[in-house]
Amino acid sequence: MVDLHVHSTASDGSDTPTQLVVKGSMAGLSLMALTDHDNTQGIDEFMAACREHHLRGVAGVELSADVSEGTLHIVGLGIDCSNRRLSEALSVMMDRRADRNARLFARFRQIGIDLSTEEVAAFAGADLISRVHFAQALVKRRIVGSVQEAFERYLSKDKAAYVARDRFAVRDCFEMIREAGGLPIIAHPHTWEVDLPSKIRQLKEWGLAGIEAYYFTYSAGQICDYLRLAYRFDLLTSCGSDYHGSGKPIVHLGEQMIPASVETTLMTALGHCPGKSESW
Ligand code: AMP
Ligand code: MN
Ligand code: MN
Ligand code: MN
Repeated sequence: MVDLHVHSTASDGSDTPTQLVVKGSMAGLSLMALTDHDNTQGIDEFMAACREHHLRGVAGVELSADVSEGTLHIVGLGIDCSNRRLSEALSVMMDRRADRNARLFARFRQIGIDLSTEEVAAFAGADLISRVHFAQALVKRRIVGSVQEAFERYLSKDKAAYVARDRFAVRDCFEMIREAGGLPIIAHPHTWEVDLPSKIRQLKEWGLAGIEAYYFTYSAGQICDYLRLAYRFDLLTSCGSDYHGSGKPIVHLGEQMIPASVETTLMTALGHCPGKSESW
């Protein structure tokens, strides 16, 4: 079984990279990618754990692209984390995220909720502080009953404390991942509210390699539509749970089934990328 879209404590997941590998291998995964938002700080630990547990590990990242129609996230699989352009861009994005967070604290103060950096950072496992960690702090204070409610009342777009953050230009997402030797994949393609077929040619010129045709929410009908699109445009089809641990409790590792031929194709494609575990 394959899972090429998973979050750890290096972004907004609740499991450490090692815990992910232990849970993933117990759940029957044989191929797994760590794809934290905007950073690769968990990758070294993840790869070491993959070696220990005899799992094929893939170095990945999830980038947020700047689009006006819904949400476009690009997962980069098999990346060389030491690539200069990518690592510098990620570090700039982390700085901008910190600026956004400062504005988020100020916005909360304006609406009478005085959160301290420490109480929010307490929920973060590493350097990245996400809206999810603000949500968890609000739950702890009993201002809301759940993370979901925190988003619905305060943190989602157009809600009381929403502050937008910078995102990468669409073209840069594809080019940066390619330059780092990785495969750019459109994550949860349904969230980008555009006519996808009409965009694919351009995206392929920029480096698009595939689409996440198997996503944890997808019905058989949706999967079929994305498989057809991938076939038509000669794209890879990837499989991701978008597991976040306790932050998204309905998602579990190892529950998605894909045909063996899809797994083999992914393994072959990723075998040419620099970001894979030694135990490939
Ligand atoms: P940020 O990157 O700091 O803007 O935070 C975005 C993260 O919040 C996403 O990656 C999701 O994991 C999470 N998220 C977004 N909307 C919701 C929601 N309605 N409920 C729970 N988590 C959410
Ligand atoms: Mn997330
Ligand atoms: Mn995403
Ligand atoms: Mn994700």
